[in-house]
Amino acid sequence: MGARILVLWCLLILAALAQAERPPHELYDALNALRADPSAIYPIVPSNHIELRRGDAVLSFEEGRLAFFAPLDGRISGAVFSGRAHILAIPREPVEKQQMGLFVGAPVLDQEFISAYIRFTDGADAELMEQFRKAGTAPQTDASFRFQWETATAQLNRIHTIRIVLDVLSHHSKPYFYAALEGAATGPFDVFLDGERHEQFAMGQYRKAEGLSFYDIWTSHPVQDFPPFREAFRGLHYTVDTSILPGNSLDATASIRVRAETDSDRVLLFPLSRLLTVDKIVDEQNRALDFFQNEGMNLEEINLRGNDAVYVVLPEAPSRGREFTLQIHYHGNVIQDAGNGVLFVGERDLWYPRLGDTADFATYDLIMRWPRKFRLVATGAKMDEKEDGEFRVGHWKSENPISIAGFNLGDYATASFNSTGHSVDVYANRELEAALRKRLDTSESSALIGLSSRRMTGAEGPSLPSTLSAQAPPSPADALKQLGKEIDSSIRFYETFSGPFPFRSLSVSQIPGSAAQGWPGLLYISTFSFLSPEAQQKAGLSKSSQEHFTELVPYHEVAHQWWGNIVGWSSYRDQWINEGIANYLAILFADTKKNPEHTLHVWLERYRKQLTQKPADASRSAGDLGALTLGTRLSSSKSPGGYQEVIYAKGTWVFHMLREMLRQPASKNPDARFTALLNTLVTKYAYRALSTADLQHEVEAVMLPAMDLEGGRSMEWFFEEWVHGAGIPHYRVEFTTHHAENGFLIRGKLYQEGVPRSFIASVPLYSGGAGHGAFLARVTAAGPETSFHFVTSSPPHKIVIDPQMTLLCTTESGEMK
Ligand SMILES: [Zn+2]
Repeated sequence: MGARILVLWCLLILAALAQAERPPHELYDALNALRADPSAIYPIVPSNHIELRRGDAVLSFEEGRLAFFAPLDGRISGAVFSGRAHILAIPREPVEKQQMGLFVGAPVLDQEFISAYIRFTDGADAELMEQFRKAGTAPQTDASFRFQWETATAQLNRIHTIRIVLDVLSHHSKPYFYAALEGAATGPFDVFLDGERHEQFAMGQYRKAEGLSFYDIWTSHPVQDFPPFREAFRGLHYTVDTSILPGNSLDATASIRVRAETDSDRVLLFPLSRLLTVDKIVDEQNRALDFFQNEGMNLEEINLRGNDAVYVVLPEAPSRGREFTLQIHYHGNVIQDAGNGVLFVGERDLWYPRLGDTADFATYDLIMRWPRKFRLVATGAKMDEKEDGEFRVGHWKSENPISIAGFNLGDYATASFNSTGHSVDVYANRELEAALRKRLDTSESSALIGLSSRRMTGAEGPSLPSTLSAQAPPSPADALKQLGKEIDSSIRFYETFSGPFPFRSLSVSQIPGSAAQGWPGLLYISTFSFLSPEAQQKAGLSKSSQEHFTELVPYHEVAHQWWGNIVGWSSYRDQWINEGIANYLAILFADTKKNPEHTLHVWLERYRKQLTQKPADASRSAGDLGALTLGTRLSSSKSPGGYQEVIYAKGTWVFHMLREMLRQPASKNPDARFTALLNTLVTKYAYRALSTADLQHEVEAVMLPAMDLEGGRSMEWFFEEWVHGAGIPHYRVEFTTHHAENGFLIRGKLYQEGVPRSFIASVPLYSGGAGHGAFLARVTAAGPETSFHFVTSSPPHKIVIDPQMTLLCTTESGEMK
């Protein structure tokens, strides 16, 4: 009876503790200060080994000591281990096995580790305690063990405490498990099982390569027995009131209308540049709210979670569907000076606090105040702009929901081009950024002569040395107009594939460096795209880079007005779709200019080479790095440029192959089906995410019978091979010719290499000869070797594989045996 009373008394104490909740910062500090409990050290011997199963991984602690963290308010949230242990992790998905192989040398992780730091809110302590109890293991006391772990614990707590705070404050069950393991073969690596992530299970490692830091993700995927992750809050409307002060720092207030999407969450996560400092966050009653900014951020977190972050703690969890407004005051400097008066917004997607991901569309009011000497451009329709002393004040309002808002400013020259239904306004700096100016200056002085009349920008005209004026550069306004005109003609070209241009105006603004982005109604275009080929060459660009910046970059970004800004993407797994479509359309537009050096086939050939040729210093070609659905994971310590190399080249080819398969050459509009597909995507997936599965579904809705290689009106084979799979096939053919009654009987074999045995493709064969020769037959390659036969009227001396470039592959033509 006495024992029972004691238990009840303990429960009452716990209940009392739960009611008197610690203030968030006190909770954070207390959790952060937790260390291994010197009196809770459990010895592990091989005969009584301890095991934890999380996601795909089994952690076996075979010999050594495990110490639990001291409890806080009755909760144990961590443990540390030193000794001998083992991890076995077997990813199920082929794409994840392939990545595991890339990083650890085998599709299965099977490795010893010698230490572990573990944090959790998922009851791992009870699971471990139960195993110790069954084994009859009693805790020991050893103060030195805690001491050994002091430095590592202090460092790692800083990163993981905020996630524990999140769980303690929100009364939901999105359990967290994290283990930092010291691998015998790989060095330190991480195991995550986190209910706050879309892909709850992940393993990976921080590594350096080519002077850059990477977080290599060995595997990442959703876990079946977890409920699918959903964002707890949605941003409905943003009013961002920003003052840009002399010196370019900014001072801003963002008022954000938010809707609760669950009943249990009370912590909101806003990505925001760490260069900005949050001063205060208040609710509708003007009550100051607790928040955490940049707590525990390191590179791993930035890679896994995206960006610098602000966590806002509400006094209690609002009920589902409730709407409320938060006001966030912040200041700092995200505007960088590239020299010669060239400014740019460095942290373009982090200059204001924004909820959710790239597929969360909301409406915006941007109120900007900036030094009068600059011009400022922003997303949305400009409602008004006026002078206010030394400043200008403007108001931009989104016409439709947008997933991101931005601005750019500078001492711009500008030109406008009015078209039916929209205007194009081009803004370029009058001066070159310092780094580029220096590169051009150190080349011979003739460097700048090359600014062609066609692609001249306002930037260079007025600053040309007078000795070069004999070249009589055209007026900057003319040049800007020309670029505006070309951009406008790309808009009209894209409208046939993607429907009406979605904005009333498009502002085309220049940014220093080589980056470019296409935001809703606002393009950020690299200075390189504004330079003539001669100036580009002097600046050190290769021939193909020059063509990339001149022929593709501005138009690729224009295509994003539909593909990215109307049709959204949410997961990194689906980012390839909008990039692939935008780039393919840009190439089709470049093809319309009828420059024989830049036909569609020239670009396709360039991308094919990029995918299939193995660079001397690489272990594999870009085409073998991994699937399109790996997105940004393709850039890793193994392949720093992997994302760029694979997504654009292969993504473009995938849409080219789809177009070729949907083509009906005999009909009045051979591309009608491809166009219908793109139009459907734009209308059906407007202002929301388009996933890879959605895309497959929509392709299946318009597919032709010849595309049904597997039967069942399914494009599964295509998506498995080209989107979820890696590898580019290589084909060669052998054949014999015999006289037959009605002509010549051709018998032969088609050999397929470089792809899995299950890979199938419809391969067109042509007779060699003048031009591309004549079409002979289509052979469905199935596996490494496919026999074929067909009858022709005249005997081919040679068989050429897919000379029209309808299939991403490398080939050898076959001579008659
Ligand atoms: Zn893009």
